[in-house]
Amino acid sequence: MRHQLEQREQQILSVHACRSEQTAGRQIPESPCPVRTMFQHDRDRILHCKSFRRLKHKTQVFLSPEGDHYRTRLTHTLEVSQIARTVARALALNEDLTEAIALGHDLGHTPFGHAGERVLNELVPGGFHHVRQSLRVVDVLEKEGAGLNLTFEVRDGILKHSKGQGPILSDDPAVLAATLEGRIVRLADIIAYVSHDLDDALRAGFLRDSQIPVSITDVLGDSHACRIGTMVTDMIENSLVVEGGTIGLSESVAEAIVNLRDWLFRHVYQVRTVHDDFEKASRVLRELYVFFAENEKALVAHGGRRLAGDSLDVSVVDFIAGMTDRYAINLYHRLFLPQPWKIF
Ligand code: MG
Repeated sequence: MRHQLEQREQQILSVHACRSEQTAGRQIPESPCPVRTMFQHDRDRILHCKSFRRLKHKTQVFLSPEGDHYRTRLTHTLEVSQIARTVARALALNEDLTEAIALGHDLGHTPFGHAGERVLNELVPGGFHHVRQSLRVVDVLEKEGAGLNLTFEVRDGILKHSKGQGPILSDDPAVLAATLEGRIVRLADIIAYVSHDLDDALRAGFLRDSQIPVSITDVLGDSHACRIGTMVTDMIENSLVVEGGTIGLSESVAEAIVNLRDWLFRHVYQVRTVHDDFEKASRVLRELYVFFAENEKALVAHGGRRLAGDSLDVSVVDFIAGMTDRYAINLYHRLFLPQPWKIF
């Protein structure tokens, strides 16, 4: 069955696609699945891992949202995956590889979104970035310290997905994924988050449609669906247009995306009510970090793991970065706040 699927890839995928048979392979060689291609197998390993399930209780923008319709890190991941797969299929690139990278890209995200990332980065010797942690999750932490042993192309795509606040288009090979599928996920990530963070901010009442600058709506459109449609279509039309293959956007759409991202920073991520919650969340993680960094026994007693060769700092970061928002808040309560007496 796997051979048939690999032959089908030969027949239907673009010459620019990364075919499963071409993979640079796994870090530890193993016999391939008889039914699935290597990239299908990687996607399934990610989907079935515990870190993936924890994404449902990790913040996207709004902390531990009570409203059922706000995005979480899990629904963000699924939206990235859907956008990336649409583009990959339209361009006859490898949809399975694209999906595996997309589903794995944010596995290393901390609780409380970027507030968590920022506070760990300040505290940890050597700094912290969710991208490196995502790779550590799949390479080392999953399966009780055995790792998922993913293919080079999926690991590379996870490592190269982030743009931070930097330029979204780049031709720097040090920045870009080795495969076009990885480069699709890099752009699908920002297309997803500028769209759904705006949608969530409108839902929360932080913003009204009329406040979005006309220079952005003129290019991207007036509704959530329209904006995603514009960006996805633009990516499809502006990719594979040069020899050797490329993933791109038109200048006008790329500029509108950057403007929307910068505008969201000013009008959503940094507004006082959102920012105040970020401060509180930072305090929770800071206190947990300091407590466990000075108390190895407590780390192990509360579910942290000490892997051979790792410093205590690294083990504390692994523990804290892996927490969901509610796990961190509950643990903070148990450790630092007096518990009410119960009468039985
Ligand atoms: Mg992401």
